Amino acid sequence: MKNRKITLKNRPVGMPLHSDFNIEEELMPVSGEGEVLLKSVYVSVDPYLRGKMNGTHPPIFELTQPLSSKIIAEVVESNNDNFIKGDYISGYLKWQEYQLSDGKALQKIDSTTAPLSAYLGVLGITGLSAYIALMDIGKPGKGETLVVSGAAGAVGSIVGQIGKIIGCTVVGIVGTDEKIDLLKTKFGYHEAINYKTTPDMKAAIAELCPNGVDIYFDNVGGSISDGVIANMNNYGRIPVCGTISSYNDIEEQTGPSLLPIVVYKFLTIQGFLIGDHAVRFPGVIAQLSAWLKEGKITYSETILEGFDKLPEAFIGLFEGRNEGKMIVKID
Ligand code: NAP
Repeated sequence: MKNRKITLKNRPVGMPLHSDFNIEEELMPVSGEGEVLLKSVYVSVDPYLRGKMNGTHPPIFELTQPLSSKIIAEVVESNNDNFIKGDYISGYLKWQEYQLSDGKALQKIDSTTAPLSAYLGVLGITGLSAYIALMDIGKPGKGETLVVSGAAGAVGSIVGQIGKIIGCTVVGIVGTDEKIDLLKTKFGYHEAINYKTTPDMKAAIAELCPNGVDIYFDNVGGSISDGVIANMNNYGRIPVCGTISSYNDIEEQTGPSLLPIVVYKFLTIQGFLIGDHAVRFPGVIAQLSAWLKEGKITYSETILEGFDKLPEAFIGLFEGRNEGKMIVKID
């Protein structure tokens, strides 16, 4: 039997292409003393990986080396006392069907509490990012207006629901009319708007948010954010979780200077990286799990099947092909 891995053939320039990726075969790894043999089951496909392809999100992926991301894997052989065959684990692992690990950076997963894939989304990095960035930086209060960009994605779909639990009026920005329906019917957003068919974002947000915007949870950056920020209320808060609209840029984006509005409206804009908050993960996962159990939040996943679908899933993030978390299930 052969093992397969996915490497970068070259660094993408602009929008990533299928031709930027290689699918290579190699001999199956053989486990040694203290090692486990892992079989990848669910692979998380995330926008931040784009930054690791060109070095804007260090460390950079090395050409010829397998890409990596958060993966749920099954232990299929164990020479390590901490794991037995059949355990499910999560970890930052290589885009390989099979791989070895010394077990040190693996977390065991309880597949009876929630479906395995949920640990890549609502109970994984994106759910954690939604909760921590919204609560710590956004500081939402009852009756306030929360606007979320990338609102139907893995992070955005959870942010809106948490805002709703707090008692905010929640407005989402998305790229299709189907996603508007999803936000309103499944995720409880009060209002939603399609940025691709909205010529004047500033005017549209003013209309949808008659009391102004108190919190803007930014997943996308660029001109969408310029239009929202122009509508911020005094002492507004802006957690900047990501700027996906710029990830494939070849030239730097320019836009209106924000500093005057930051000064005169007393705004707080703060960047956020989830890796900074690892110590809080157990507590936040417990809260998100409780809300899931009580039916207070729900989640969507877009799951492509097959190891060779990884490049397609990754490119799909920039085409808006996912609702909720983008995941690849390995056969
Ligand atoms: P996601 O929202 O599930 O997927 C990406 C979505 O972005 C797409 O479905 C698409 O939806 C939208 N999009 C793509 N290109 C766009 C563009 N040019 N302009 C506007 N929207 C665009 O991804 P995610 O994992 O939840 O991540 C969301 C953001 O948070 C990303 O910026 C990511 O890098 C960031 N993030 C940051 C952290 C952190 O620690 N700071 C952690 C997780 C994620 P539409 O159809 O609506 O366009």
